[in-house]
Amino acid sequence: MIYLDNNATTPLDPQVAEKIAKFAQEHFGNPSSLYPIGREVKDMVNEAREIIAKALGASRSEIIFTGSGTEADNFAIRGVLEANPDKNEFITSAIEHPAVLRTAGYLEKKGFKVTYVPVDSKGVIDIEFLKKAISPNTALISIMQANNEIGTIQPIEEVSKIAKEKGILVHTDAVQSFGKINVNVDSLGVDLLSISAHKIYGPKGIGALYIRKGTKISPLIYGGHQEREMRAGTENTIGIIGFGEAVRVMRERSHQDKKLINKLAERLKKGIENKIAKVKFNGHEKQRIKGTLNFSFLDLEGEAILLALATKEIYVSTGSACSEGAEDVSHVLQAIGLKPEVARSSIRISLGKFNTEEDINIVLMEMPEIVEKLREISNLDIEEY
Ligand code: PLP
Repeated sequence: MIYLDNNATTPLDPQVAEKIAKFAQEHFGNPSSLYPIGREVKDMVNEAREIIAKALGASRSEIIFTGSGTEADNFAIRGVLEANPDKNEFITSAIEHPAVLRTAGYLEKKGFKVTYVPVDSKGVIDIEFLKKAISPNTALISIMQANNEIGTIQPIEEVSKIAKEKGILVHTDAVQSFGKINVNVDSLGVDLLSISAHKIYGPKGIGALYIRKGTKISPLIYGGHQEREMRAGTENTIGIIGFGEAVRVMRERSHQDKKLINKLAERLKKGIENKIAKVKFNGHEKQRIKGTLNFSFLDLEGEAILLALATKEIYVSTGSACSEGAEDVSHVLQAIGLKPEVARSSIRISLGKFNTEEDINIVLMEMPEIVEKLREISNLDIEEY
């Protein structure tokens, strides 16, 4: 199998798997219990929290564990807007993950004013538009650090600077950037930041929200005293321990992993562009998480390519995992100006640390043949883009 859908999820790192297995066998205590088997687990949970906080340049008390990246995004946006009832405006971008966009849609239904900042043809937000969208009623700006479909990296530092001058809070969804580029809450200047373990070779169903000390935010879940009474409920201890270990391993190896992924992605990109006709690269050549490659294969359906590759055990995606199977066209590709039929002809290839040179050799051998065969039988005829 050649797995090239690492933006959807990543395989569990063997060291993480081992840590989780050992922990699960040896520790069942409730972190809230006062006797030793509980205290022990509480200490381990806090150790994981410390590792994650350090990786973000934050302090331990600023990390709240959540059930996913999606939950962290919901928590940040709904929590801030609820805690600041004197302001009823929210600004985000047109290319956010559904975790943010659907939350924005919910807010609109509730009567909030939501502004969606457009992006240019490479997926970079329009800063001037953002500046003009700000009003005295703006409570929060949420812009993702890197896009999951095309990988474009946003100028978050600039967004924070603009927001800070007006006293507006900033959230960034760093689910796709964490582990791939530098994610430091102070250099980014953000007040809230979401991450998720399963994108960095950790377990699924565990995420975290960084909340800068002093940020006004309402709790997400009411109940016991867990997670500073912000997200009550007995902790997902296995997930948290796995998340901490995934971050530890990531920090230890990040340089070599990034180097490998960048090298393989560059070779794959050049190979596809050289070997396959009528292919359009979507996204930013430079300002991008390098392992994310999005291409349109004119005259074809992206899904047909995906399925043909899957018969060779090569796994890619047609876009956001959350909209997989849905009929609608990628909102990200439309936002960068692709016609629906061109957007529909796209696939996303996302590399990870377990990919090898041999994987790239095989893809570069199989893919041109698959595309050629599909084009022979395709009756689509998309006019030149
Ligand atoms: N935000 C972005 C940018 C993502 O790519 C994803 C997952 O694809 C999420 C949020 C949601 O994270 P999770 O799968 O942990 O809910």
